[in-house]
Amino acid sequence: MGKLIVISGPSGAGKGTIVQELLEIYKENKQKVHLSVSATSRSPREGEIDGINYYFISEQEFLEKVKDGDFLEYNMYGTGKYYGTLKSHVLKYLSDEYDVILEIDINGYKQVIGNYQDAIGIFVTTPSLEVLEQRLRDRGTETEENIKKRLATAKEEMANKNIYPYIIINEDGKVREAAQKIYDIIKSN
Ligand code: 5GP
Repeated sequence: MGKLIVISGPSGAGKGTIVQELLEIYKENKQKVHLSVSATSRSPREGEIDGINYYFISEQEFLEKVKDGDFLEYNMYGTGKYYGTLKSHVLKYLSDEYDVILEIDINGYKQVIGNYQDAIGIFVTTPSLEVLEQRLRDRGTETEENIKKRLATAKEEMANKNIYPYIIINEDGKVREAAQKIYDIIKSN
């Protein structure tokens, strides 16, 4: 069986960039890895591609998948949108010896760890809440209302980060170091 890795952290902490770097490190080491693509009821941001960043589906379709038992975990995020991990993106890969990476929120992690005690939980955060707010604003993808909701959720997540066995601080310009730390954690588990 491959390892199940959960990467969480507040919106704007740079999880996506770190995960891309982590995939590179896997490639360089010729190790098998699969990044799970979640389904969501939120709309795509500019440049996001259906089936690559997320499966963008309607709320109705999302709830049908919930009913059909297609999700390993799912959650309604602070913005009121649904996000969920599809079983089809996880189980087969794990049994084929792939490490599977989930980039999900803290509620999702709690559900995963309930079923897979061996899952490795890693929380990625910024040096401070101020840095986080700045990054979210610099990204320029969210409305003011959305930024406020994301910051409120971020505060809550940061207050609960100790449920993760590993916490990684993503400092500006040190993406490679952060990704390498995560790779080393995975391989030492
Ligand atoms: P964003 O809208 O910024 O892409 O994602 C918002 C939050 O939802 C992030 O914290 C992200 O990690 C989380 N998220 C993304 N996919 C999933 C998922 O499948 N399940 C859960 N529980 N959270 C997810």
